[in-house]
Amino acid sequence: MSALLAETRPDQPTAVVAAPRRNRKRVVIIGGGFAGIAAAHALRHADAEVVLIDRRNHHIFQPLLYQVATAVLSPAEIAAPIRQLEAKQRNISVLLAEVTGVDVASGTIEASPPGVGVRKIAFDYLVVATGMRPSYFGHDEFARYAPGLKNLSDAEAIRAKILGAFELAATTDDEAERARAMTFVLVGAGPTGVELAASLAQMVKVTLRGNFHRIDPAKASIILLDAGGRVLPTFAESVSRWVARRLTKLGVKVVTGVKVETVDEQGVVAGGNRIPSATVLWTAGVAASPIPKMLGTKTDRAGRALVDPFLKVVDASGVFVVGDAASIIQNGHPVPGVAQAAIQEGRYVGRLIAKELKGRKVERPFSYFDKGNMAVVGKNYAVLERGWLRTTGFLTWLVWAFVHILSLPQLQNRLRVQRQWLWSYFTGQRSSRLIPEPPRVTTPGPDR
Ligand SMILES: Cc1cc2nc3c(=O)[nH]c(=O)nc-3n(C[C@H](O)[C@H](O)[C@H](O)COP(=O)(O)OP(=O)(O)OC[C@H]3O[C@@H](n4cnc5c(N)ncnc54)[C@H](O)[C@@H]3O)c2cc1C
Repeated sequence: MSALLAETRPDQPTAVVAAPRRNRKRVVIIGGGFAGIAAAHALRHADAEVVLIDRRNHHIFQPLLYQVATAVLSPAEIAAPIRQLEAKQRNISVLLAEVTGVDVASGTIEASPPGVGVRKIAFDYLVVATGMRPSYFGHDEFARYAPGLKNLSDAEAIRAKILGAFELAATTDDEAERARAMTFVLVGAGPTGVELAASLAQMVKVTLRGNFHRIDPAKASIILLDAGGRVLPTFAESVSRWVARRLTKLGVKVVTGVKVETVDEQGVVAGGNRIPSATVLWTAGVAASPIPKMLGTKTDRAGRALVDPFLKVVDASGVFVVGDAASIIQNGHPVPGVAQAAIQEGRYVGRLIAKELKGRKVERPFSYFDKGNMAVVGKNYAVLERGWLRTTGFLTWLVWAFVHILSLPQLQNRLRVQRQWLWSYFTGQRSSRLIPEPPRVTTPGPDR
């Protein structure tokens, strides 16, 4: 049992885990994503007790989630157990728990480990790295029909929905229902929407070819909708144009400047037109987790905490926010919500705390080093934008593949993903085409 839990008193409804002996400070990190893990790693030699809390027992490599959703990879290939940090780092305790409260004034958080009840955990330093979740822009009722893509369960649910839709198309005798089943609508043309649409286009044309006698999957209709004027709005306009052309070539219908008004069991209503679809996927907005708001600091419209240039929460000594949960303006521009930014912020704060623990002061504020933005658009094609540099095509795609293989957590994941990609590249096959029971296809109600 970890020292942390050994100190809890289960007979109390809200046991307080006392701060450690005062000569050893406790750093509590909430979130085992890119930012939280980078912060923990940077503290590996610090004379502190590091407690890393996550409600999941695994870290997810989110940039490849869309490949799980489209059956290229299986969930275990893009995830790694957070607990293994305890084997690598002597000063860390990993706690599987949902954090439900933060009290900055008393220096405690409330966490609920499964089956144990609420625990109060005292901290000397707090690092909030809780990331983002899908936002339906005030229409949470859409979530039932249009899943977002944020974790492994979402990816598996989307995969089941897509594969289930083809099964429905192959079995129904109703032509309108078949057309509805073979129409896929993605709402949001940012990197996730673009990557997912392109991968789906390839799957229907290549992977599913010949798999159904009654339908031709290649005739599926894939529609990418966005309320904005162009795909990939965070990239340069020229890149957006290349990508839109590429998507069209792959068979994706790109519709921009159209707002989605309704999502229901029949499909979507966008720009006043109903599009019947059994598979609507939400790849649009994101919002921060509720934790930054609990810090009593200012937040932006998406709920991200506004932090100072040292990523500290103003007026809350020893409290930091990093990764997607933080809103940071640098040189007049917001630091983007990408993995590299999260890693750099987490590492910066980990090092800052380690220095403070040694009695040294950090003078240099956080500075984001932009390594560039990439998106992959189907087989053999990716785009890269870094400052004035913009590249596209096969070589960029190779760079994308290389960078992603190297960035995956755990050597075995790198080897497994490489093998899957090679198999898929040369055969067009995808190994993870599983539908967990029952298929999650939205079927119309009796009034249809
Ligand atoms: C589908 C998708 C594709 C993406 N593609 C790319 C890409 O190609 N390139 C790129 O650079 N970036 C990409 N991103 C963005 C990138 O993944 C994020 O910027 C990055 O994950 C942010 O890291 P983080 O540590 O701040 O948050 P996360 O990685 O989201 O980690 C947050 C962690 O906090 C935990 N948590 C949250 N709330 C609580 C709580 N109350 N209690 C306990 N634990 C909690 C969560 O379980 C999670 O493990 C993508 C994101 C998504 C969703």
